[in-house]
Amino acid sequence: MKRREFLKIAGFTVFGSTFINPVSYINSKSITRSTSKMKLRFYPYTLELKHVFTVATASRRTTPVMMTEIEYEGVVGYGEASMPPYLGESHQTAADFLSKVDLSQFDDPFKTEEILAYIDSIAPGNPAAKASVDIALHDLIGKLIGQPWYKLYGLAPEKTPYTSFTIGIDKPDVVRQKVKEAEKFKILKVKLGLDNDKEMIETIRSVTDKPLRCDVNQGWKDKEYALRMIEWLATKNVELIEQPMPKEWIDEHAWLKERSPLPIIGDEAVQRLKDIRKAHGVYHGVNIKLMKCTGMREAYKSIILARAFDMKVMIGCMTETSCAISAAAHLSPLVDWADLDGAELISNDLFDGVKIIDGKVTLNNRPGIGIIKKQ
Ligand code: MG
Repeated sequence: MKRREFLKIAGFTVFGSTFINPVSYINSKSITRSTSKMKLRFYPYTLELKHVFTVATASRRTTPVMMTEIEYEGVVGYGEASMPPYLGESHQTAADFLSKVDLSQFDDPFKTEEILAYIDSIAPGNPAAKASVDIALHDLIGKLIGQPWYKLYGLAPEKTPYTSFTIGIDKPDVVRQKVKEAEKFKILKVKLGLDNDKEMIETIRSVTDKPLRCDVNQGWKDKEYALRMIEWLATKNVELIEQPMPKEWIDEHAWLKERSPLPIIGDEAVQRLKDIRKAHGVYHGVNIKLMKCTGMREAYKSIILARAFDMKVMIGCMTETSCAISAAAHLSPLVDWADLDGAELISNDLFDGVKIIDGKVTLNNRPGIGIIKKQ
């Protein structure tokens, strides 16, 4: 009996939309979608943050993630979707999206371009859910070949950058405590954009002279004010400014870019590959994150395109387990700045993976994205 016929008799629909009601997934540990060769599984998980995390737009203590696994001939690749609430994805939207994924039509996991074009075509949006499939597929491929991705990209592991560690907006005594806890990091990223920006900087400067990167998260609403603030920050050993004003303010950012003594980096304004071209002439550089651009494949293309426009590149993250952080880390030898502290901010990581050693992103020789699931 052919496998497809067997599954039909057994009550499964291989090519149908789904065989498990996505609404019921949350109470189940995991869902398995059978395919002829590749199997996609996914299950929800909630990251616990070590500290309440406050940026200009929100404050929270947990982050919902969806973990994925693609199994092929007994080998399992791991992936992850991290979904901070303000970006619009959730356990439910990711489950709905992943329930539509049917990998049975592909007989070869190495047809990455074809498979990921299909994933992207299933529905608009859902970049983190898409990234969770992309990461699992990359991990699987690396394991099938028996090589880590930095080697497949042709990159030198010692070229990984130092990562910044993020200090959220908080009261001075809490900020001082966080700076102390971040001792192993050589660079700090400071969240700005509320009404205590100068207090945040002065507080940090009272305990350390480490280089700072400032992320305003669209918090400044006046270009002249933004320029005055940047001129002041330039005297405080600040390296760059991320997304100072609302992402829709294209002319204002171009104006600021011409005058700013520090590089201006687009983050919220730059989501997918097509946004890189739009950022040219508006920002000095772009912050590329797997959860915005649907994963490693488009992130790689985005970095190459940004370089073609002579732009600076940062690789960033959300709060994530070592799964998604490790995936991004394999691309980090290509960039100017890394902001890959996401797994350092959580207390319930599921994986052992790429490490931050003395502040430096440190790759390992394991195949795929270099992770092992903790027991
Ligand atoms: Mg940012």
